[in-house]
Amino acid sequence: MHEMSICQSLMDQVEQIAAEQGASRVDSIVLSIGPLAGVEADLLSRAFEVARMDTVAENAELEIKTGPIIVECRKCGTRGEARVNRLLCPSCGDWQVNLVEGDELLLLRLEVSGIDTKTGVEE
Ligand SMILES: [Zn+2]
Repeated sequence: MHEMSICQSLMDQVEQIAAEQGASRVDSIVLSIGPLAGVEADLLSRAFEVARMDTVAENAELEIKTGPIIVECRKCGTRGEARVNRLLCPSCGDWQVNLVEGDELLLLRLEVSGIDTKTGVEE
């Protein structure tokens, strides 16, 4: 399953950040998945249920946000929102557009606790 390997690398990232902050627990993870990322949010959260076992994120909540698709037209320079099946310039309708946003898979936010106060960074 494609989502499982994505989840594994995500967990590596999460564990690394938690370790850097000296946190013993991760409370929540917020992800942003673009509509063109090729990732099913449902499958990803199911993979997460498995991947988080025996990690600092064992009891973490996973929140998945989906962002818009933003394109920039190579002809008229307009930057705007496009749809998954219609990657066209929102202004002149040309298909020669650059994808600005929409295929990302980002770790937006991580909430941790159990931080060692001597080295911990509080918001
Ligand atoms: Zn255009």
